[in-house]
Amino acid sequence: MSQREIRKNPFTDEWIIYSEARQARPDRKKDSCPLCSGSPEVPEFTEPIRIPNKFPALEIGKEPKKISSGEFQIKMSNYGRCDIVVYTNEHNFKFIDLSDEEIFQIFQTWISATKEFNLDKNIKYILPFENYGEDVGATLIHPHGQIYGFPVIPNLVEKEFDSIKQFKEKNNSCMVCNYIEEEKEKEERIIFHDINLVALVPYFARHAFDVFVYPNRHVNFLHQCTRSEMNSFVSTIKQTITSLNSIFEKEISYSLSLHQSPLNTQGSNMFHLYFKLHTPQRNIKSLKLLGAVETSTMTYINGMLPEIAANKIREKMS
Ligand SMILES: [Zn+2]
Ligand SMILES: [Zn+2]
Repeated sequence: MSQREIRKNPFTDEWIIYSEARQARPDRKKDSCPLCSGSPEVPEFTEPIRIPNKFPALEIGKEPKKISSGEFQIKMSNYGRCDIVVYTNEHNFKFIDLSDEEIFQIFQTWISATKEFNLDKNIKYILPFENYGEDVGATLIHPHGQIYGFPVIPNLVEKEFDSIKQFKEKNNSCMVCNYIEEEKEKEERIIFHDINLVALVPYFARHAFDVFVYPNRHVNFLHQCTRSEMNSFVSTIKQTITSLNSIFEKEISYSLSLHQSPLNTQGSNMFHLYFKLHTPQRNIKSLKLLGAVETSTMTYINGMLPEIAANKIREKMS
């Protein structure tokens, strides 16, 4: 059996990625940072760059065709892309320490990856993201992010996309555009908004301090955003992370991801781009760990109503 494949759960329609390469990831020491310039991966650093991940969960290989070896055993070969984006040459910097211009350049690497991955008809979704801190499993200190290219639309995104398509069919308008209008009217879950975007703790937040940032305008991909919209994203995301640090009186672990339209998929102009900021931190002392209810049913129990969390974050936004 190949140790790298993608299997489908026939009961839930969900994909699970199997990749033994991930187990081989080394625990790196600070003195052997592979992302500091001068390393084989980054001989010289001049601006944020994208390099292949040496321990990819997904890798370009055989054509990802669905194979069934039984009524309930559907799989495809492991296929996809895993890149790393090195943000800066400053080993001890953090994302929020970077200048707006540097983060804008990181966005440019996300845009170029999106355009490049889109040329491969087997790639259906691109996920640029950053894991920061031990509590979300970051293994390297050096400021960096990752970009995954999936051969399938990931489970949660597919559910969202299906809802958006059904809404469009029924109402001939964008579900997300309508949703953010409703949130703006209610106001209580909004942490910041300006001419370009709205940042909020969604009505349906799974974790206490989940923050979604949506452009006001209906855009599918980051490259369709104006410089002014990107500037608003950069400053709002930085401010939100800083506010969360202030609430918890420490540097929180978080993950930040960009959700754009699926690639090489019909109806891609229906998707409404957004950023998702997640921290497992639920109060000053503790993290939200997934317990039996979440792991066995994927039904979340959140100890804080989103409007209360939004109020706490809003108070800290400068
Ligand atoms: Zn380094
Ligand atoms: Zn929209």
